[in-house]
Amino acid sequence: MKAILVRQFGGPEVLKLEEVPTPKPAAGQVLVKIHAAGVNPADTYARTGNYAVLPPLPYTPGTDGAGVVDSIGDGVKKVNPGDRVYVAKNLSGTYAEYALALESQVHRLPDRISFAQGAGVFIPYGTAYHAIHHQAKAHAAETVLVHGASGGVGIASLQFARALGLTVFGTAGSAKGLELAQREGAHQVFDHSKSGYQEEITKAAGGRGVDIILEMLANVNLGADLKLLAQRGRVVVIGSRGDVTITPRDLMGRRASIRAFTLWALTEAESIEVHAGIIAGLENGTLRPVVGSEIPLKDAAQAHINVMKPSGAFGKIVLIP
Ligand code: NAP
Repeated sequence: MKAILVRQFGGPEVLKLEEVPTPKPAAGQVLVKIHAAGVNPADTYARTGNYAVLPPLPYTPGTDGAGVVDSIGDGVKKVNPGDRVYVAKNLSGTYAEYALALESQVHRLPDRISFAQGAGVFIPYGTAYHAIHHQAKAHAAETVLVHGASGGVGIASLQFARALGLTVFGTAGSAKGLELAQREGAHQVFDHSKSGYQEEITKAAGGRGVDIILEMLANVNLGADLKLLAQRGRVVVIGSRGDVTITPRDLMGRRASIRAFTLWALTEAESIEVHAGIIAGLENGTLRPVVGSEIPLKDAAQAHINVMKPSGAFGKIVLIP
């Protein structure tokens, strides 16, 4: 089969399309014919070799993907050959024509969701679900600011939060991104590339502040975020690409808190809940993954360049084998 192989850590150019043996499923494993693979910022961090979780070289990148079950190993009961599935973590990498996964890592993909959409399910929607439910412990009627609402996690957060009954604010850095955020659930949108947008948010929150901030770029925003919070407000750090200075007194007076997590550390119980919540939302139409661009697998390097562009995000970038 064709697969992207990384033989040494480095820039996007280390992503090379090669011919490799097609894996065979052992007991408890599932082989999925990949129709689309999701590109996540974390794939680029790992590729550079400077990330908390690094695969041994050589490796095929890709945590997210969607396709059809090709074959199953002994003892697999959850799926059968021919089933449509999305992949949430796996054993061999989804930037390939086939990916090997444990039975527990494949989940039924509802018919209304395309394969390209399915490739943008696990990391974006799993992160958004965990941030909103387990970390922020959000309630209907609270106000949430999705800080970075035009990308994969942001759109998933807007859709979950809107369906839950929160008042939803979203930010983006382009006209296209702002329009998308509004379409996907934000009651009000703000341009994070313009100076003074934080005052607009304070005004929109009626002066009391926002209850929850889901933060995609904490190294830029965390200090200012704390000043936007209501009493007992919570910032959930989802993304950060460097250091930041904060004023702890901004938290103290508000009894506010900063929470943070990585999706890699989900417990089994949390994971079961996350997938049940996601599948229900995909089925009932409240969750609608947005695919911004489909790129041929051989151009994975370009996809890695695009996903790290500083502004102009628009849904998910997916690779098509
Ligand atoms: P993405 O699709 O590339 O989207 C990036 C988002 O960040 C866009 O909405 C972008 O908006 C926004 N952004 C850019 N500059 C910003 C600024 N100054 N302030 C606020 N937002 C800004 O990425 P993603 O998949 O949604 O992931 C978002 C972040 O979360 C990444 O850093 C990723 O590594 C991290 N993440 C963490 C976990 C975890 O386990 N903790 C899981 C998934 C993702 P514009 O392009 O419109 O400016």
